Amino acid sequence: MAEDGFDVVVIGAGVIGLAIAARLASDRRSVLVLERETGIARGVTSRNSEVIHAGIYYPAESLKAVSCVEGRERLYRWCASKRVDHRRTGKLIVATQPSELATLEALFAKGRANGVPGLEIIDTEACRSLEPEVRAHAAILSPETGIVDAHGFCGSLLAAAESEGAILALAKRVVGLARGAAGWRIEVVGEESTHAETITAEVVVDAAGLEADRIAELAGVDVGAHGLRQHPCKGDYFVLAPGDTVRASRLIYPVPQQAGLGIHLTLDLAGRPRFGPDATYVEDRDAFEVDAAKAAAFGAAVARYLPGLAGATLLPDYAGIRPKLAGPGEAFRDFVVEEGSAWGAPGFIGCLGIESPGLTASLALAERVARIVVA
Ligand SMILES: Cc1cc2nc3c(=O)[nH]c(=O)nc-3n(C[C@H](O)[C@H](O)[C@H](O)COP(=O)(O)OP(=O)(O)OC[C@H]3O[C@@H](n4cnc5c(N)ncnc54)[C@H](O)[C@@H]3O)c2cc1C
Repeated sequence: MAEDGFDVVVIGAGVIGLAIAARLASDRRSVLVLERETGIARGVTSRNSEVIHAGIYYPAESLKAVSCVEGRERLYRWCASKRVDHRRTGKLIVATQPSELATLEALFAKGRANGVPGLEIIDTEACRSLEPEVRAHAAILSPETGIVDAHGFCGSLLAAAESEGAILALAKRVVGLARGAAGWRIEVVGEESTHAETITAEVVVDAAGLEADRIAELAGVDVGAHGLRQHPCKGDYFVLAPGDTVRASRLIYPVPQQAGLGIHLTLDLAGRPRFGPDATYVEDRDAFEVDAAKAAAFGAAVARYLPGLAGATLLPDYAGIRPKLAGPGEAFRDFVVEEGSAWGAPGFIGCLGIESPGLTASLALAERVARIVVA
């Protein structure tokens, strides 16, 4: 690791930290990325649906809406130019009964207001001709939704960052942050060491995913007072047991539910379907075990729009945990990507509450951080 100070230290080598590192390094800044794990993209980035969201669900002009729409376009261009595996699958959001129509139409209006291109409301017949196994009263067709290889994307971000001179230091856990006259002093411990090294940087970017609020606290931010406490919210995924099959070429979502998008069908790049995630607030940020007892509830939720799967056996697959700023029952909270002067931490850029659509939005959020650094 370099002895001298860096222009920017980025904490966390998930998709957000890597996108920011690549973007800032391209401006000829010296950038160091500190990651506590022994590899990149092992946090939230490794446990999600890998969906490239179109930008339908979020309130107009929110950072989630704007960064999702901009980030999606940037992501498709990036994937094409860097040969990252991805596919523009398209997606259906289905109302299974007339009582869900009003929600579907409101969602459609939201998507249009957010500038999502190509959205259409289609009827039962049109839906059946696209996806014969789906039962829908009506559906939103979103042609711009897709899927991406999140790890491949992160690898390409790291390659871009390193080619511009950024340095990645693995197995380096940030344990302290102090602001001095010359910038930030960052205390770091290695995997097998209790002795802390000190690194200095003009700017610190907190891209620590589920730990982002704890890192902000290390920087002296009163996260409670500023509404920056993250609430881990777990999502479980299930897959079909061998022998059960479903034919779908698009992603299929129900109309959204309280804390998540509803139990939906996504496809991986090999075309395999999986179902989830649900949304359950948890205390433990490392509680990744899937509760097999939920299989029946998942099956019932899926069978509403895929009746052919009624009675199919679902098996636990994996789980991911969202760093949500909204606690249980609380209203919508936006991404926070802000410079910390108002929190008493100048030169500290916090990325908090980066739940979905963070993967899609990552390149746009990196642009936002680049604008903050220049200002
Ligand atoms: C269930 C689920 C489904 C999702 N589905 C989608 C989707 O389909 N599409 C989409 O766009 N988004 C989706 N998301 C959101 C997306 O996965 C996240 O927004 C994104 O991965 C967040 O990346 P990150 O870099 O902020 O966090 P992370 O990937 O968690 O990276 C943070 C890194 O910081 C490191 N770190 C933490 N503390 C320290 C420390 N003290 N010192 C050094 N390093 C540290 C961690 O080890 C980790 O590697 C989903 C999220 C979940 C949970």
